[in-house]
Amino acid sequence: MLVRVDLNVPLEDGAVGDDTRIRAALPTIEFLRAAGARIILVSHLGRPKGERNPQYTLAPVAVWLSELLGTPVAFADDCVGAAAATAVAALADGDVLLLENLRYHAGEEANDAAFAAQLAELADVYINDAFGAAHRAHASTEGVAHLLPAYAGLLMEREVSVLTALLETPQHPFVAIVGGVKVADKIAVLERLVEVADTVLIGGAMAFTFVVAEGGQVGSSLHEDAAGQAIALRARAKALETGCELLLPRDVIAADAFSAEAATQITPADAVPADWMGLDVGPATIELYTERIRSARTVLWNGPMGAFEMAPYAEGTRAVAQAVAECDGTTVVGGGDSVAAITQFGFADRVTHVSTGGGASLELLEGRVLPGVAAIPEAH
Ligand code: AMP
Repeated sequence: MLVRVDLNVPLEDGAVGDDTRIRAALPTIEFLRAAGARIILVSHLGRPKGERNPQYTLAPVAVWLSELLGTPVAFADDCVGAAAATAVAALADGDVLLLENLRYHAGEEANDAAFAAQLAELADVYINDAFGAAHRAHASTEGVAHLLPAYAGLLMEREVSVLTALLETPQHPFVAIVGGVKVADKIAVLERLVEVADTVLIGGAMAFTFVVAEGGQVGSSLHEDAAGQAIALRARAKALETGCELLLPRDVIAADAFSAEAATQITPADAVPADWMGLDVGPATIELYTERIRSARTVLWNGPMGAFEMAPYAEGTRAVAQAVAECDGTTVVGGGDSVAAITQFGFADRVTHVSTGGGASLELLEGRVLPGVAAIPEAH
């Protein structure tokens, strides 16, 4: 069985750093092992751009995966050709083999038909469990799915069903929290959320783009230019049309420099003094936002409330993480930074679902069909 997984983990000095993605792939691998399958794992790591580059080798991942599974994981130093075929031929039932980085071949990202055929030759069945790569139409996520009987893995199935249910059959009140830096990155998801959510809470630097667009003073807070502001106004107009309550921060923690050592003061979000920048939401906003979150039946959180990597500006994000954890409804966290935040604050195991796919979950929430999902007959 050819199993596309997302083992795109950070490597630090040649060893695996954060192994969340490897752990997320374990249920499908363990399920298939128990069923006696011969498991051929394929993944990308980083951006080697079609060339062999030892900086992006999956070899350390095979070692770590073997530790986590408690069984040897063989490794072949190419994902196609003789090296791969020899390693596949050596597999017995229940064995696990990891092939070298797919992106050592330009055919992977180009979704090249010949490269997809080379991958398909290795197995009789294809399983896609790489939700984090499902928004890319690559040979291993899309092309090969048309050449073998294709199925979704357990992680893929759960990600798609949880995120789809959120948009299609949410329990109300549905509160969405959107933060981070750029409105432009999140506009499609914001426009979709104001259609389906009862309340959208805006935080992070993107709130200042809304505040400026609506005539407020944001001092030197990070915000976008006219194009970003026009997007913010469009989201506001759409929310008025759909009856969605779109809230902006009431107050912020303003600092006189982008530094953990800066002087700080609490100011209204729309009256930040010149030369001061808002780096977190303030106490009145925390009270308002966490009250909405705690009484929700469905919560989606994407993007931090402030520059939470610096301790003096972490409280807004921490308080939101805690409120999400304390909410009794369905709670979903998606997007790299909010996942990092909820993990850092120790609440990750108290939410319904933590999405492993940053770009893929955003695209799914925008209502787009992901190519890696569309290629699997039963997954959509
Ligand atoms: P994004 O990648 O768009 O989700 O943005 C996440 C990043 O935004 C994090 O690294 C935060 O430190 C940063 N961030 C959030 N709020 C602010 C803010 N008010 N000023 C500067 N950076 C911020």
